[in-house]
Amino acid sequence: MRFEMNANTESREVQKQNVSGVECTRCIYDARIPRISFDEDGVCNYCRQYEEMNQEYPTGDEGRKMLEANVDEMKRAGRGKPYDVVIGVSGGCDSSYMLHLAKKEFGLRVLAAHFDNTFNSRIAVENIQCVLGELDIDLYTHVVDNAEYQRIYRSFFEASVPEIDTPVDLALAAVHYMAASKYGVKYIWEGHSFRTEGISPPGWFYMDAKYVQSIHSRFGDGKIKTLPMLWMHRWLKWMVVDRIRKFRPLYYLDYDKEATKTFLADAYGWQWYGGHHMENRTSYFVNNYYLPKKFGIDLRFSELSALIRAGQISRDEAMMRIAEEKPFDEEILIEIKHRAGFSDVEWESIMEAPLSHYTHHPTYKRRFEQMRPFFYLLYQAGFVTKSFYEKFCVLKDDEVDTKNLFEPVRGADRERPAIQAPERSPSDGKLSRQAPHRESAA
Ligand SMILES: [Zn+2]
Repeated sequence: MRFEMNANTESREVQKQNVSGVECTRCIYDARIPRISFDEDGVCNYCRQYEEMNQEYPTGDEGRKMLEANVDEMKRAGRGKPYDVVIGVSGGCDSSYMLHLAKKEFGLRVLAAHFDNTFNSRIAVENIQCVLGELDIDLYTHVVDNAEYQRIYRSFFEASVPEIDTPVDLALAAVHYMAASKYGVKYIWEGHSFRTEGISPPGWFYMDAKYVQSIHSRFGDGKIKTLPMLWMHRWLKWMVVDRIRKFRPLYYLDYDKEATKTFLADAYGWQWYGGHHMENRTSYFVNNYYLPKKFGIDLRFSELSALIRAGQISRDEAMMRIAEEKPFDEEILIEIKHRAGFSDVEWESIMEAPLSHYTHHPTYKRRFEQMRPFFYLLYQAGFVTKSFYEKFCVLKDDEVDTKNLFEPVRGADRERPAIQAPERSPSDGKLSRQAPHRESAA
């Protein structure tokens, strides 16, 4: 028997279960994770999804063979071109390891691509330099206009949405395509690993170019000139005309992040920067301050749950680690306020402002849903990832339950302001803050 935590009958259903029913018996996800459901063993749908992906992307000898077959195809596709593959570099562990893998282990001709949002940490820059230098890999860089990026950055704070890094994440994707398109490269490697990072639950975050433009038009001056944008027409051109595919090599490997960090340090003088995505100062700020304090989102839930599923840590260890305080360097908060141009008083009102959600703003989401059959073909042919197809095309916006999206999560510092639809939208009460599941189920 399955049940959805968002159903009205949930508390009665929960009581029927042998298990606690609000907490997964395998990972550390609980009823506050969007769209979670539990089966009769008390195992959540995200753990089951992991099992499916594990079957689809085997590791070991089988994974190695699949990886090698893909690499052979990349070499064929690269004939007559200066490079076989584009790899985005951030100075982080995943991208640095991919450079090593592609060039040293598979003999691919690599073009590294980097989007500089001018917030890079010193360690990140040094990591990029030492790994690229050692491997003799060319670098394609796009630097955004500092003032323009800061205005866009500020708009996202003003909009009170959680996706502060969305303009950068999309720009990264666009820069990879720009590099590939310029040199006729047919493959882009992505460093995502569902085994170490997990799959973030649909509903928390969203991204597309139209969303970025809507936010910046409504809360800023709307001018976007140097930030690379993944506009629908450009993206379709890169996929359909240039035939540029995405590939995630780490899916086929027994990827142990801790061991990889040690390896990179020994082989390349690479330095650890103290936490996931901490190579970038805005990401550090968003993950360790903004999301937990304002939205009650602690991304460690996702990462630690993934590590449990992959058998890399125990549930008990994860519970201990999630209880630890998130490290935060107050200097970064001062820097962020300064760069986004907020006074202390303005910043306080940003942190207290009612929460907003992407469904309150114009996006491509509806078009993605309408174009579902087309994107299915693109997914089948390796142009878009399965997670894009499922989250953006299959999952319908009106099925996203925004009601309980930002419930307090363990480790969050305080109660958050209620999520609120913009004044121009009719308020049907669906988005108002409800009592947390825990209380209603008790
Ligand atoms: Zn689970």
